Amino acid sequence: MEEQKQDIRKMSLPQIAEWMQAQKQPAFRAKQVYEWLWKKSATTFEGMTNLSKELRDKLEQNFELRPITIYNQQRSNDRTIKNAFKLYDSHVIEGVLIPTDTRMTACVSSQVGCSLTCKFCATGRLERLRNLDASEIYDQVVQINKQAIDNYDIPLSNIVYMGMGEPLLNYANVLQSIHYITSPEGLGMSPQRITVSTAGIAKMIKKLGDD
Ligand code: SF4
Repeated sequence: MEEQKQDIRKMSLPQIAEWMQAQKQPAFRAKQVYEWLWKKSATTFEGMTNLSKELRDKLEQNFELRPITIYNQQRSNDRTIKNAFKLYDSHVIEGVLIPTDTRMTACVSSQVGCSLTCKFCATGRLERLRNLDASEIYDQVVQINKQAIDNYDIPLSNIVYMGMGEPLLNYANVLQSIHYITSPEGLGMSPQRITVSTAGIAKMIKKLGDD
């Protein structure tokens, strides 16, 4: 059986730089790849056009990219677009574009199913199958932003972590996704426009505050 290749979006910039060094590639190549991954949201190595064909092939041989894809869409009269996104392992999650007169908001999921069972919530009836990777949360924002621009010619202004799952029970990935979404090396969105909603995991609320 073919060995599963490493997901390059789980590697930090120093780790990519280390691999580039081992390939006898100049150090700045790592920065170029990192920019393709988090600023330009590349979904293929082939698309990284400022890298040599040889290097792109080597990346393809050694790593994989696991972008999410739109599996299904529902549009409402209020202009809301509800997406079913398919993940690399065929799990399906929801992400919603919510346009209002003053905001263009993406509502993103943080888990497949949920760790909690709130009585009023449909997701609460689904067991938690797994946490989302930071890249899968990031991808929801990228896809929904593209939808906002394609459909309403307005980019996203706000992000709410109010989709499937309890964000504070997938803490590390949620925080990492916020880093990719807000940092200048990533999408550069304003942290003030991001809301993390929780059912009330007290100790993690404090930790989030401290962090
Ligand atoms: S934490 Fe959120 S997603 Fe999970 S069951 Fe409660 S309301 Fe639903």
